Amino acid sequence: MSKHQFQTEIGQLLKLMTHSLYSNKEIFLRELISNASDAIDKFNYIKLTDDRFKDENWTGKININLDEDDNSITIGDNGIGMNEDDLINHLGTIAKSGTKSFIENLTGDAKKDSNLIGQFGVGFYSVFMVASHVDVITKKAGEEQAYMFSTDGTGEFEIKPVTKETHGTVVYIKLKDDEKEFLSKWRVQEVIKKYSNHIPYPIMLNYTEEETTGEGDKKETKKVRKSEQANVATALWTLPKSSLKREDYIEFYKSLSHGDDEPLTYLHNKVEGANEFTTLFYIPKKAPMDLYRADYQSGVKLYVKRVFITDDDKELLPTYLRFVRGIIDSEDLPLNISREILQENRILANIKQHSTKKILQAIKKLKDDDFKIFIEEYNKVIKEGIFQDYANKERLLEIVRYKSSMQDGMVGLDEYISRGDSEKKEIYYIIGEDEKVLKNSPLLEAYKKANIEVLILDDKEIDEIVTPSIGTFKEWTFKDITTIDAPDSKTEEEKKEISKEFKALTDRIKDVLGEEVKEVKTTTRLTTSPSCVVKDSSDPMAGMAHMFAQMGQKIPETPLILEINPEHEMIKKLNKLEDKDKFADMAWILFDSAKLSEGLEPKDKSAFALRVAKVATEAI
Ligand code: ADP
Repeated sequence: MSKHQFQTEIGQLLKLMTHSLYSNKEIFLRELISNASDAIDKFNYIKLTDDRFKDENWTGKININLDEDDNSITIGDNGIGMNEDDLINHLGTIAKSGTKSFIENLTGDAKKDSNLIGQFGVGFYSVFMVASHVDVITKKAGEEQAYMFSTDGTGEFEIKPVTKETHGTVVYIKLKDDEKEFLSKWRVQEVIKKYSNHIPYPIMLNYTEEETTGEGDKKETKKVRKSEQANVATALWTLPKSSLKREDYIEFYKSLSHGDDEPLTYLHNKVEGANEFTTLFYIPKKAPMDLYRADYQSGVKLYVKRVFITDDDKELLPTYLRFVRGIIDSEDLPLNISREILQENRILANIKQHSTKKILQAIKKLKDDDFKIFIEEYNKVIKEGIFQDYANKERLLEIVRYKSSMQDGMVGLDEYISRGDSEKKEIYYIIGEDEKVLKNSPLLEAYKKANIEVLILDDKEIDEIVTPSIGTFKEWTFKDITTIDAPDSKTEEEKKEISKEFKALTDRIKDVLGEEVKEVKTTTRLTTSPSCVVKDSSDPMAGMAHMFAQMGQKIPETPLILEINPEHEMIKKLNKLEDKDKFADMAWILFDSAKLSEGLEPKDKSAFALRVAKVATEAI
């Protein structure tokens, strides 16, 4: 016998399971049945691919025993089983990213945390919501020795060799005194129907029932052992669409997602022809917690002729669709396909392409409120897609939504172009971190005056990379307003005239600011502000943000141009100001406050504050 300590995180998890979570305890059954089903999937696969098991007479089955006298419940499977190392590595440590992020997300607030349980399949450990003691008796397929893993759900577990005839696993659960409800056949059956009805293997429920025979004096009550199948045991996606109701799909989603939420939408497709395959996809209402983690868990399972192959292939769908949950079942792939070959397989590439198109179509078809939810949860990953998936760029651009200078809420590009200038065909945008700052930016003044809509892109990190790479949408060209001339009613001649008139002033300001600005010039884009800063569109670095991002490098700062509003009182006065020191202070204030309006910081913040104080004192 050997004694082991649980990994610290598991200790934490166990404490939480035993002491803090009182709601939704029934999910322990779902988790253990799901583990059993996975183990049978794995054996099913090696039986078909490994000659050692070819002749074994076997059909996958899950057995649940309810024992009222012993106050226990056991869940058994004839799957792959575990050896000693597996027990230590799989039950004694947390490997899965999902479980890790579950622990990171724990708040200590029992109510919030029990909701989290629904979102993550926290698996095996959920058994400690109801168990006072657990034994896992297991034998790995192809190995001689069986083992028993025992724990009370405190910090330790024990492993010792035992005998067991067949491969597979039996989990013996001694129930806590107040968890007797899970000895009731009705209660357990209800839970199985709710979460595990479409597990593709029969779940046999074994229980004791009292039976009365005879009449009058001869009446006798006996306890009889009974057994019945508790689930329908069909792979739902293999059934014809016409025989399935919405509830069936939702019920299956719950077992797939280990959760209680309904999906936003689902799509079930059977494709026949050169390639035959079935797909069933779901879009969750809430984005998975690990959506932005590099080690996110894939949500799609690959089957070949109903045999489970893998749930760990991130190439089955494009990365930006990593929130999709579901199943791909191919008729044409060979069963013994290796994971490495999977990546380059033409059949899979074809399935991926077809699936992506269908999923994007389903998203586009979402009704108002559902579409809103979708955008709230997934707009950012759709933007990733625009950058990654050239073939579907147009489709993705029809889905993505942006904030707008004209209205609250989100606008689609089709809506934007429907009210834009159809001669010019330009889509104007401005990028920054903060919606409010962007909406108040002096750069928008001329657009507001000319009643031209500007898209407000406030996912700066991603927008800066993605948007310059878009180019056009339905022949409309994307234009960053910080790099183009603003709309106005002045002719080129008039502009030149103004620029000449203020040349002395712009030169003087440039002298003061030196290398901090690339250029100082007059502008017609402002109405109420005295100055603004814009990026230099002729700079070779501008618009190359996506290239730097692809190389994993920091995006370099592009030099700024200071533009001044010749019609503003401050500029007019400045033009006449002779005092050199005062002029220098004013030039810096013009530049620094223009930067602030764009959400940028003055280079020397305290010098800026001192200058403002100085000027203010004189003004009082
Ligand atoms: P998950 O199932 O989400 O990976 P669990 O904590 O439920 O997380 O299980 C951890 C691991 O233990 C599983 O991934 C599997 O390798 C192993 N395991 C659990 N139950 C069984 C079982 N009945 N048969 C074989 N292996 C199992």
